[in-house]
Formats: sequence, structure tokens, C-alpha cells
Amino acid sequence: MGSVAQDSESIETRLFINGEFRPSTSNKTFPVVYPYTKEVVAQGPIPQYIVHEANEQDVDNAVTAANAAFPSWRDLGIDQRAGYLRKLADLLVESHAKLAQLETLCTGRPISQFFDASFSADQFRYFAEGGWNAQGTASLSTPGLLSMTLKQPYGVAGLIIPWNFSLIAFAMKMAPALAAGNTVVLKSSEKAPLTSLYVAKLIAKAGFPPGVVNILSGFGNPAGSAIASHMLVRCLSFTGSSLTGQRVQTAAAKSNMKHVHLELGGKSPAVIFEDADLESAAAQTQFSVQFNSGQVCVANSRIYVQESVADRFLQLFREKFAAVQIGDPLDPATTHGPQIDAIQYNRVKEYLAIGAKDGTRTVGDDAENGFFVRPTVFERVPEDSRLMREEIFGPVVAINTFSTEAEAIEKANNSDFGLYASVFTKDVDRAVRLAKALEAGTVGVNCTSPTNAKDGAIGGLKMSGSGREGLLYSLDNFLEVKTVLIKTAPA
Ligand code: NAD
Repeated sequence: MGSVAQDSESIETRLFINGEFRPSTSNKTFPVVYPYTKEVVAQGPIPQYIVHEANEQDVDNAVTAANAAFPSWRDLGIDQRAGYLRKLADLLVESHAKLAQLETLCTGRPISQFFDASFSADQFRYFAEGGWNAQGTASLSTPGLLSMTLKQPYGVAGLIIPWNFSLIAFAMKMAPALAAGNTVVLKSSEKAPLTSLYVAKLIAKAGFPPGVVNILSGFGNPAGSAIASHMLVRCLSFTGSSLTGQRVQTAAAKSNMKHVHLELGGKSPAVIFEDADLESAAAQTQFSVQFNSGQVCVANSRIYVQESVADRFLQLFREKFAAVQIGDPLDPATTHGPQIDAIQYNRVKEYLAIGAKDGTRTVGDDAENGFFVRPTVFERVPEDSRLMREEIFGPVVAINTFSTEAEAIEKANNSDFGLYASVFTKDVDRAVRLAKALEAGTVGVNCTSPTNAKDGAIGGLKMSGSGREGLLYSLDNFLEVKTVLIKTAPA
């Protein structure tokens, strides 16, 4: 530990198109840097992970392959498609250790916090069975007609994923897309391409027919925007920032009006009332914004605590929040890793400066040690400060106070985002009122993010996205409804 890990297994760094690994047509490449050491990641016989970068031509090649593979994949039926999904699930579980290492090397997430391989395997297993739910309706309500709806795959699905929890986003999109009968072109994040490339190897091993799954490494421009604009990509599932989501939606509208599903950023509030279990509220809310060094879409980065208990809550929060183990993310004892790269680190530093100007810093700051930022608390920040309004994506929280329930709701909802909100109270009436009033795709009562139910719906209101993902929801993101009318002659 301390330097970039080495092992004997080589990693594929080329593009996975039509069932084979190919260099990029431009021969352009980019490095993967371990955020802890800032060294280019290297392993085995490959001196450095120099990843091939897809351009428009590579995207077109991948889409063409997916389009050609579509009719026979669709016509296999779910029983046979499920066989491939189950095989991939088994391979994911077997590859837990390797995937954990690659995720940590790309992102700096502490390796002890990697649960993604088993979570992802569960997605493929669930949709192997859940594919049977591609069901329409049938009706005799119109005289002389049997009216039916069918749910059918779109064709080529474009999948664009972010760098944080990339394997999870990969699986949550790819499993339902394939189960529904679509073929896919997935672009990983330029910051975290290695887990996707490793899974491409597993896909080849599982024996998927060529062209069904295509995996590209590359940047938003040109590769991401080429997928969003491609005339043969019929639906697009995107997870990333709200700004990129707007660009993707615009590109989709300007090209072929492809169906777009967006999972975007957040600025999630937690509201803590005086009757709450303050120990539990402090423990949960500090973890929410410290986990993965705050680089979590649902992190509760705004906390509102009732004035009467503010001192006690803040004391508990500060103690727990500061007690992190900063270190090499490959060390299982580390609980707090660096920000992913210089861009993200400098972005967080900009907000540290804004917080220091607009509010009062009471815990933490820049760790002045590589890309590390200590868990940081700002208090008494004006509601119109950029610190309160913009997604920081770092371990930085603003804690303000309120006196009445109405004030708490007004402050919590005063945001362009609406991903996850939480309320801590023992009053069931108040809990229900807040669950109704808070503008968020998910509301936690006496719990906060990242808590979620496996069979729940994930998604946002306002600029946090449109559409929902989840075991019970995702299949429909990859199916379109067709009405079939059969005219029946009277007896
Ligand atoms: P990002 O928006 O910078 O990039 C996301 C993906 O979009 C990457 O693959 C990137 O290469 C690609 N991209 C960039 N520009 C593009 C363009 N013009 N056209 C097409 N694709 C383009 O986001 P990020 O930094 O990778 O991830 C962090 C963001 O993702 C945060 O805002 C976070 O809140 C959000 N996120 C949301 C969820 C959710 O479920 N709502 C989950 C994880 C992350």
C-alpha cells in the first residue's frame, strides 16, 4: 500500500465493440490516476493504465453493432436472455475482490466500503426473472374490438454513467435494458473506466452474442454527446450531474427525440425536530455527508435543526463527523478517502472559501494533503449563499436552525433540486405532514441517505431528474407501449 497496486492479471483497456476488444479508431488514449498517490495506475505486464478513448466513429461502430444484434436478441425471449444475465451475475460475485480494487484505484473510495459487486449481481439476477413483467393489457370494452397493449424493447439503448458508484449505475441500467430485449452501448466515466472494462471481459466470458453489449471508455465530448445525438439510439438512460443532464436532453431532442431517463444531482436537506433521537440523527446525518468523501448524489448537505436542540445536536454531530480515519483507501482501516481528482478537489475548495466568507466554519477544512478534504461544517450560512444552493460533492455540510415546522419546510424546499429529504421526529403526525410536504423523490423518516429499500423507486424531482429506477420500475424505462386493435365481426 502507499503506492499504486500491482498484480499479475492484465486489464483490458481497449473498447469493447461487437464482442471484441478493439483500439480506438483515433488511437487516442487517456491515463487513469489513483487519487491517493496521484500516480498513473499500473498493473501486471501493463506499465500504465492507458485507456482507449472513443470518438464519434467508435460510437457509430458500437451503435451499428448493437443495431445489427437487436432483432435476434429481442427474439431470443426472456428465458434465454436470462441465462446470460445469471451467468454474468455469478461472474460479478466471483470478481468482487478485483472489482473492489479497481474501483478504489480509480476513485479513491475506501476499499472497505465496496459492496457494489454483490449489489450489481442482484440486479442481473432480479431482471433475469423480472423480464417476464414486460406485460401489456387486453380489453373488450370497445364493442367490436379486442384492444391490447404490448410492451416492446426500443432497439439500441444508450447508457451513460457517472464515476461515483459506477458499477452500480452500470448494473441498474444494463440489467433491465438487456432483460427487456434491447441491445446496449454503454459509456463509462472518463474518471472511472476500469470496472466497466473489467465487466466487459466478464460479458465476453459469459458468452453474450456479439453486439448485444458494447462498452466504450471516453469523455463527455465527443463520445457521450455522440451517443446522445445518435439517430439509431432509441432510448437513453443517463446518470450524472444536472448540467450534463440538460445537455443530454437537448441533444436527444435535437436528434431523434429519443426517450430520455435522467438521474441527476442533489442538495438534500435533513430536518431535525426537538423531539428526535438526537444521537441517531447525528450519527446518520454525519455519515450521509461523509460517506465516499461526500461524493454521493443523495448526501444530506443541508441540515436544519430546531433551535431548542441545536447546541446538543451540533456537539454530537461535530464529534462523530470529525472522527474519520484519513489514509490510503486501499488500507481496510481507512474510512475517509480523497476527492476523486484535482478538478473535484479544487471545486470543493472553492466552496470552502465561499463558506468561510458567508458563514462560520466550526469543524474541518482542506486537509492540505493531496486531494483530501476533512469533514467540514459551516453554520449560520445565509439561505441564498451558493453553499446552500449548489451541489458541492464533497464532505461539506451547512447546518442552520429553524423554530417552526412551517419554516423548516420552507427552507428545506427552497432548492432547485429534489432528490432525497429526511425528517427526524417521534411525532407521527408531523412525520406524515413532512413526508407529504417535502419536495424530494425519496423522503426518509428517522433515517437519511444512503438508506434505501432495495425494492423502492430511485429518482428526483425538479432538477434532480426525471423518471425512476428500481427493481419494480426500471424495466419500463426500456420498453415502449404499442396498441394493437383486432376488429371482431358480430356473430
Ligand atoms: P457528469 O455529469 O460530469 O458526467 C456523467 C457522465 O456524463 C460521464 O460519463 C461523462 O463523461 C458524461 N458526459 C459529460 N458531458 C456529456 C455530454 N455533453 N453528453 C453526454 N455525456 C456527457 O457527472 P459525474 O461527475 O460523473 O458524476 C457526479 C454527478 O452525478 C453528481 O452531480 C451526482 O449527484 C450525480 N449522480 C446522480 C445519481 C442519481 O442516482 N441521481 C447517482 C450518482 C451520481
